[in-house]
Amino acid sequence: MSERVALVTGAARGIGRAIALALGARGWSVVINYRGSRDAAETAAAEIGASGGEAISVQADVSQAADRDRLVEAAIAWRGGIDLLVNNAGVAPRRRADLLETSEESYDEVMAINLKGPFFLSQRIAREMIRAREAGRPGAPKIVNIGSISAYTSSISRSEYCLAKAGMGMMTQLFADRLAQHGINVYEVRPGIIATDMTEGVTEKYDRLIADGLTPIRRWGQPEDVARIIAALADDALPFSTGEVINVDGGFHMRRL
Ligand code: NAP
Repeated sequence: MSERVALVTGAARGIGRAIALALGARGWSVVINYRGSRDAAETAAAEIGASGGEAISVQADVSQAADRDRLVEAAIAWRGGIDLLVNNAGVAPRRRADLLETSEESYDEVMAINLKGPFFLSQRIAREMIRAREAGRPGAPKIVNIGSISAYTSSISRSEYCLAKAGMGMMTQLFADRLAQHGINVYEVRPGIIATDMTEGVTEKYDRLIADGLTPIRRWGQPEDVARIIAALADDALPFSTGEVINVDGGFHMRRL
């Protein structure tokens, strides 16, 4: 039985799924959280099982306090603790709307899933990590937030998403600052344009932009590009770094002339 337990939110599909599989392949016991994609979550758990790893799937909406409690309790009941939290679950606005038309409903929904949920889940799990360390649980617990280039790139048709991801940037620093004294490092992994269901509706637009040189590395990112970084962090690749942002964006973040 693995002593290293990872909880990955939104891990049935896309980037979260790739992260769960990469961790499972490295011997982590993985809690696959999902909201609606039960079959896909069970398939991912079975894939990890077939490759010699261990995984369970747990339904929970990260924007709901009672669901977050249930998720954490399920993970602890399974393996006694959580050594890595990956705040991956996230949504784009249901409808892209100009900044001057953004609705309060969409703002509240995106903020609740992309920022409030991760904030309070991190708070809850950080307390557990501290308690477990004080009780002698070995290892170096960590939190990794999946941010976005939208933290600093204006997209006026999805302002609520940009605001949530910008907030996650500060959330990473706050938790990194508070948790360092407990030996818990906190990182933000900031993907660029990654081929998942989230970007499926804008494939043509991004195909064109990438071909025209939007990113120095002229290709779409794949979920596995992101997962490799999480796997390295999980393996303690950056023990003397915390609050760090790791870009996985084909070089998008550079200013260029
Ligand atoms: P995706 O393919 O649309 O998958 C999103 C995942 O989040 C799904 O597994 C979904 O679960 C889960 N989810 C959504 N709302 C949830 C909730 N309330 N509670 C629990 N899980 C929830 O998206 P993705 O592209 O993999 O995105 C993953 C993360 O990367 C997001 O935070 C996103 O903002 C970020 N990101 C993506 C890109 C990109 O280009 N794709 C770029 C930068 C950052 P169910 O299927 O079970 O509903």
